[in-house]
Amino acid sequence: MNSADVVIVGGGVIGTACADALAREGLQVILLERLGLAAGASSACQSGIGYGPFGSDYDLKFDLAAIAEYRQLAASGVHVDYHCDGALLVGEPTEEPRIRARLEQLRRMGVACDWLDAAALRQAEPNLSPALTGAALLHDVGQVSPMRVVVELTQRAARHGAHIETNTELIGVEIAAGRVAAAVTTRGRIATRRLVVAAGAWSRAVGCLAGLRKVPVWPLKGHVLVIEPAPGLLRRYSTETGYEAGVAAIRQSAMGEAGPEPGPPQVAAVLQPLPSGQMLVGSSREFAGFDREVSRERLAQIAGRACRLVPSLARHRVIRTYAGLRPWSPDGHPLIGPTQQSEGVFFATGHAGEGNTRALITARLVADLMMDRTPPLDTTPLAPDRFVMN
Ligand SMILES: Cc1cc2nc3c(=O)[nH]c(=O)nc-3n(C[C@H](O)[C@H](O)[C@H](O)COP(=O)(O)OP(=O)(O)OC[C@H]3O[C@@H](n4cnc5c(N)ncnc54)[C@H](O)[C@@H]3O)c2cc1C
Repeated sequence: MNSADVVIVGGGVIGTACADALAREGLQVILLERLGLAAGASSACQSGIGYGPFGSDYDLKFDLAAIAEYRQLAASGVHVDYHCDGALLVGEPTEEPRIRARLEQLRRMGVACDWLDAAALRQAEPNLSPALTGAALLHDVGQVSPMRVVVELTQRAARHGAHIETNTELIGVEIAAGRVAAAVTTRGRIATRRLVVAAGAWSRAVGCLAGLRKVPVWPLKGHVLVIEPAPGLLRRYSTETGYEAGVAAIRQSAMGEAGPEPGPPQVAAVLQPLPSGQMLVGSSREFAGFDREVSRERLAQIAGRACRLVPSLARHRVIRTYAGLRPWSPDGHPLIGPTQQSEGVFFATGHAGEGNTRALITARLVADLMMDRTPPLDTTPLAPDRFVMN
């Protein structure tokens, strides 16, 4: 293949979702992945498909649309281990009035949620700490296997004619008459007029190849522990309010010349039982460049928070640990759509800790914008040109 309607850079959950959506539009698509599929954050993450209950109305709308896409995908017979049993959100007892007031607001907005008092919580999750006086139950929050999403969408894209080129790195972009003319790769040149940057935490470097030196996407490191199968230990995805507080704290990071300045790491318990009986226990947030080394200190901090929620978790073994790099943008929104700053370049990046949730809706937005259709969501807050990149 030496030409394509669209070249997509990045074989993570975002790039493969875009390849699937654009191939199904009838476009001739080539996806480039310099390593193997899901080599980046999409295989070093957790499994949640949901929303932050304290987020803005826009983010809530975005995430509910994202969840609807997973429901449709599952209903269409594509198996990505999607299941939606709801999630529990716990806070300190002093936070109960704040959480309950928010649930009231969410219910008025049509979001399915309930407050479980101590007795109901005990019945729902007998192994949660007896110190908890209640929890919010968010019915629309579910889980998926992000790697299965990548595999299934890649296969569907290929069935619609997409070429998936792994071990193929984008190393240059030819610009002619002011717009993209070709993608230069380690395995040859591909003539194309459209390039989709879906390179996750590496999107800044990919942007440079297209003459955009200041794509505002930086790696935000996160750690996860995988717990041996412990069926019944926890029935539902459970998290603490500290998670959203950590996301908000990271958003306040001071921006220096070289990107966000490292501040104190944020750690909160996010426990996700998997269909296999194993459990994913995350997570942390910190700026550490592109370092993916696992820190024992960070693992211990995460484990400590998790055992506060589920004390008997301490009796179970950790069978695997890893760290991944979220593609983080400073205003908390991804960059989705075309840019006027380099004609022919589209972005689908900067999803931080919500990329798995928002992958399918991102692909729909990219396809609608590329095909000149009106997207189902106002994309103004996501427009890449809110940032000056050259
Ligand atoms: C600890 C942790 C927990 C998380 N938990 C959740 C969760 O519960 N729910 C949720 O929704 N999200 C979660 N996320 C976020 C989610 O994993 C990411 O937002 C998502 O995986 C980003 O996908 P991506 O395709 O943009 O990037 P990536 O998966 O990183 O893919 C980018 C790809 O681009 C490739 N690439 C880079 N440069 C080039 C080049 N020049 N040429 C070719 N290829 C290139 C890389 O090799 C990589 O494979 C979590 C993330 C972490 C780290």
